[in-house]
Amino acid sequence: MLAKLTFLGAARNVTGSCYLLETQDTRVLVDCGLYQERKYQERNWQPFPFYPQSLDAVFLTHAHLDHCGLLPKLVRDGYKGKIYCTQATAELAEIILLDAAQLQVEDATLKRERHRKEGRRGPYPELPLYTVEDAEAVKPHFSAVEYLSCVGISSSVESCYYEAGHVLGAAVISINIQKNGSNHRIIFSGDIGEPDRPIIKDPAIFNEAEYIVIESTYGDRTHEEHENIDIQKQLRDCINRTVNAGGNIVVPSFALERSQEMLYHLNELFLRKEIPRVPVFLDSPMAIRITEVFKHHAELFDKEMMRRLRQGSSFFNYENLRIVQSVEESKAINNVKGSSIIIAGSGMVAGGRVKHHIINNIRRPESTILFIGYQAEATPGRILLDGAKEIRLLGQMHPVSANIEKIDGFSAHADRDGLLAWLSDIRVPPRCVFVTHGEEKAATGFANLLKEKTGWTVKVPQYKDTVELD
Ligand SMILES: [Zn+2]
Repeated sequence: MLAKLTFLGAARNVTGSCYLLETQDTRVLVDCGLYQERKYQERNWQPFPFYPQSLDAVFLTHAHLDHCGLLPKLVRDGYKGKIYCTQATAELAEIILLDAAQLQVEDATLKRERHRKEGRRGPYPELPLYTVEDAEAVKPHFSAVEYLSCVGISSSVESCYYEAGHVLGAAVISINIQKNGSNHRIIFSGDIGEPDRPIIKDPAIFNEAEYIVIESTYGDRTHEEHENIDIQKQLRDCINRTVNAGGNIVVPSFALERSQEMLYHLNELFLRKEIPRVPVFLDSPMAIRITEVFKHHAELFDKEMMRRLRQGSSFFNYENLRIVQSVEESKAINNVKGSSIIIAGSGMVAGGRVKHHIINNIRRPESTILFIGYQAEATPGRILLDGAKEIRLLGQMHPVSANIEKIDGFSAHADRDGLLAWLSDIRVPPRCVFVTHGEEKAATGFANLLKEKTGWTVKVPQYKDTVELD
């Protein structure tokens, strides 16, 4: 046997990415993600089904919480080794984990108070999953690996990092195992982006691998035309319609990549004078810190972004962009006369300042809540997109009168055709492709299609399945 692979998350669901790979003498984890779907959140509280101190290394694909969000728990529970990822991922993950810890502490406090007032108990402990100190303790474990380079963990195992085209610093990780003089390659896609997305470079492609673990977030659908110009057209129409009606545009946004892309597209529209220069509020301390990371990693930008920078124009700063740091400034946005565009976290309305902006606008038929990202099952974002007539936010029900809109082309994930294209350079059939990181329907739909198109062996693992790779 070459290795044993156990699927500890993102198996027939989207969040909680975590894979345990064990060879005869090495035990490594790929990603250690947080569960964000409500129905799986109790898994965040369960002890890891392995001893953290027994791991030789952790390989991290990228800084999204559903891939790195349980690292503070892993370190607190005894992990002593390194967490290998790109430098940008390390910087971004530090910011994201600290924010997650702060939110958890705040949410736990609020929940405790609310439950005490209401005299009831919630389904989960009213404690933070981990604290700010736990998140800070992760930092010394990060060890930077450059794209197109490898890090050896033992005499027989190394891991190599490649561009994933998903978010700044995101990597596809190839784990190479030496056995009986030959090299065996297992590729973990992490999350794969589409080619030609703004700001960052395109995903790397591969011609061979024995095993591939591939995401399938959008494995059962194709995005609509996702040329930037098309996103900008939809954005332009939405903004002009809302501004003409006298409303605000509230954009729940992921702090990483999506907020920067939104600023990028808005900048393009302002430069072309296709939308009025209404104030744009970036009301997310985390998105602001993350934008700073983008600023000093220009080496990761694609050609178009570099050209804009050389022209002296960037999405980081333009005259009507307002950076909102404090809670007071955030509250004051509600008093601004005229229309504005408010970009705030969190992207699925599961927490953060965006909840307040939605509450302030949700009864106004002239305002628009504009979704630009994936909404996981049972999150408030998904509930709104599914057409709910009322929504529970911050412990109260609110009737929905605002326009609820979505722009799909923003997706940082390859769609069905993009995933097939990413695999199309693989010349020799892999021993097996494991389809993960997609809801049941997306994962099985993509697995069936891939099987049909290629004749390869394709599996959709269940949570905690272990497979022997030989
Ligand atoms: Zn991701």
